[in-house]
Amino acid sequence: MNNRLFVVIPCYNEEEVLHETVSRLSKKMDALIEQGMAAKNSKIMLVNDGSKDRTWEIIKELYEKNHYVTGVNLAKNRGHQNALLAGLMTAKEYADMVISMDADLQDDIDAVDRFVKEYLDGADIVYGVRSSRATDTFFKKNTALAFYRLMGALGVDMVYNHADYRLMSKRALEELAGFKEVNLFLRGIIPMIGLKTATVEYVRNERFAGESKYPLGKMISFAIEGITSCSVKPLRMITMVGLLTCLASIIYLIFVIAGYFTGGTMPGWATMIVLLCFFGGLQIFCMGIIGEYIGKIYNEVKQRPRFIIQETILQD
Ligand code: UDP
Ligand code: MG
Repeated sequence: MNNRLFVVIPCYNEEEVLHETVSRLSKKMDALIEQGMAAKNSKIMLVNDGSKDRTWEIIKELYEKNHYVTGVNLAKNRGHQNALLAGLMTAKEYADMVISMDADLQDDIDAVDRFVKEYLDGADIVYGVRSSRATDTFFKKNTALAFYRLMGALGVDMVYNHADYRLMSKRALEELAGFKEVNLFLRGIIPMIGLKTATVEYVRNERFAGESKYPLGKMISFAIEGITSCSVKPLRMITMVGLLTCLASIIYLIFVIAGYFTGGTMPGWATMIVLLCFFGGLQIFCMGIIGEYIGKIYNEVKQRPRFIIQETILQD
């Protein structure tokens, strides 16, 4: 079985961690090649996602010094998912298997052996699954849990506690290339590919250096992106809410009419205001959800490229 391995790493302002990440990964590559698990011309592909710091300069320096390193420089910042896709689509031209991981060493590099082993045993997609969330803050742990539950309830097939640490074979990547959507949520899309899959458990560490590039704002938009990219259930829910509201108001109307005839017309100001505010809010919320999907359609019909590569440095 062909076993040329590419490790794809999206990097956004990661100057503090790159040297360490590349040095640890290079050792891992040496070991894999030694054991005959990966081909000699395996590579580490660093994708610079329009960083504002010296990330790209460092990638170029590493490329000169280290034969494993290759680089892809995006024309501007397009976000983690698009940067990852740019790397995967570039790597699939050369590699037999591609592992994606973060730059910050949170993904345990020692799990790579088990990923490759699963691939050699015939898996096309190997999901890295976190065995515990002990290193997460209380907030991150619980918001993540709520997110998985919500996605499950909305009918999105996601692998529990799996981020973007995974291995994909060339075959799986070619299938992924067929998914043309601009609104990219890889964790929801990749399970749609199917093929033979496996999972590998690993312990996720704390960020080696630097700060998370996923502050709360980005986390929320990532969650909304994920839901609206993969599920139309929220639209169905709006319909149901609308229907229930109609029924409830008909029942209420009966009371109002009865009240009118029995002469008990009450002041009713409070009820009016409460109902007004509640339904006003509900309507705006529902319109917002519909707007989310229209926004998606708007983005999809334009079919703009998902990433633009300014430069690729790669020695075959
Ligand atoms: N990243 C990226 N573009 C962005 C934001 C993040 O390429 O706009 C990369 C980042 O460099 C890292 C990975 O995505 O390699 C995950 O980001 P981070 O570790 O900050 O997220 P967290 O682990 O806190 O969820
Ligand atoms: Mg991280």
